[in-house]
Amino acid sequence: MFETIIKGGRVIDPATGTDGVADIAVNRGKIVAIDKNLSAKQGKKIVDAKGHLVLPGLIDTHGHIFEHVSGEFGLNPDAVGVYSGVTSVCDQGGPSPLTVGGFDKFIAEPAKTDVRCFLSSYLAGGLYGHKYVDLYGPVGIDVGAIEQSYAENPDLICGLKIHAEPGGYSRWGMKSLKKAKKASKATGLPLYIHLGTLWPEKNGKAVDIKKLVSEIVPVLSEGDILAHPFTRHDGGFVSKGKVHPVLLEAVNRGMKLDVGRGSHFSYENAVAVMEAGIIPDTLGADLHGYNARAESAYNVNGQFRPDEEPDVVDDTVPFSPTFSLVHCMAEMMAIGIPLEHVVAMVTSNAAAMMGKSDTMGSLQTGRTADISVLKMTSGRYTFADGAGVKFKGTRRFTPVVTMRKGKLYQPVSDLLPEWIRQAA
Ligand SMILES: [Zn+2]
Repeated sequence: MFETIIKGGRVIDPATGTDGVADIAVNRGKIVAIDKNLSAKQGKKIVDAKGHLVLPGLIDTHGHIFEHVSGEFGLNPDAVGVYSGVTSVCDQGGPSPLTVGGFDKFIAEPAKTDVRCFLSSYLAGGLYGHKYVDLYGPVGIDVGAIEQSYAENPDLICGLKIHAEPGGYSRWGMKSLKKAKKASKATGLPLYIHLGTLWPEKNGKAVDIKKLVSEIVPVLSEGDILAHPFTRHDGGFVSKGKVHPVLLEAVNRGMKLDVGRGSHFSYENAVAVMEAGIIPDTLGADLHGYNARAESAYNVNGQFRPDEEPDVVDDTVPFSPTFSLVHCMAEMMAIGIPLEHVVAMVTSNAAAMMGKSDTMGSLQTGRTADISVLKMTSGRYTFADGAGVKFKGTRRFTPVVTMRKGKLYQPVSDLLPEWIRQAA
């Protein structure tokens, strides 16, 4: 007898090359059988997944969930996680060597979602979305403190977060990045590098973007992650419609790319990057309190909606719209990434980026039962990027149920668009 059987869904698991209809049985928080024909009589609880996708628990590689500490910036971990169809959320640079203990105790421990982080390289951490630029110079990076944090939290910390963008460069050049790389070498952890303008340039100092980008790549090594390849802000992958050639070189040298969708996602730049032959490895929704507000108006900039919906954009709302990881998956398909790769971006590739391929991102007997069941629908859908530019797609996803450690959660997060919550 099994506690739960997820029955009759299309199981896709890029890590094992699986794509086909199967049943998954779960006992005591673990996957105990994956079989084509388990009898419904064998399960105390049956999840009817017929016609749905059954995927390894989705991993969001870029979230901001240091709630109560990072100001309005930090969202509730379970709103981003299990209640949005996502079993694991990796906070990007919220907790720091000074605050990671609190992050572990007050966020990761009580969360129903599997919470991990890329530790902020800066002692200050990602307070208020890195609003106060003077906290983020090289003086605020302590390599020894980073090493100690990692030694104390080896499961929680999966990498280090740093920025390489014009505002910081105009103040400190490459110093912060180089110091973070020192910590990365000392710990063996990968660096996650934010590209694209974040802070204003120092008065009177105009940064040459090409020079900046060409100086970043030589500091990095295989396994480091370049973030925001589709950003609409300058200083990223695309400047004046052209992909910087050094970035192609970076990809060829084994550096990874995380979409980090956020509100800076540009459809035009995404197409330019794709046309250059670059496909990101992982997705990362980059949800935070400044770009996704619960209970925001239905039609606001960036949110996608069925074609038949009235097209009203409310510019008076300072926040961008609610979106979610599954929304971003549909956008990736709309820009031409095939389903199999989109699934890998939020499962096997995400686990690899976090150094957790042996425990996360795959459906195998003996593993923790982290499973996402999604409904995939076909139609003609209109999406909107962070600047409100519209584009078309033919697929979208609705989370049906989330299983984390064998427990079932309904996707009722108020970060999800209204139509998803109504459909659930
Ligand atoms: Zn972010």
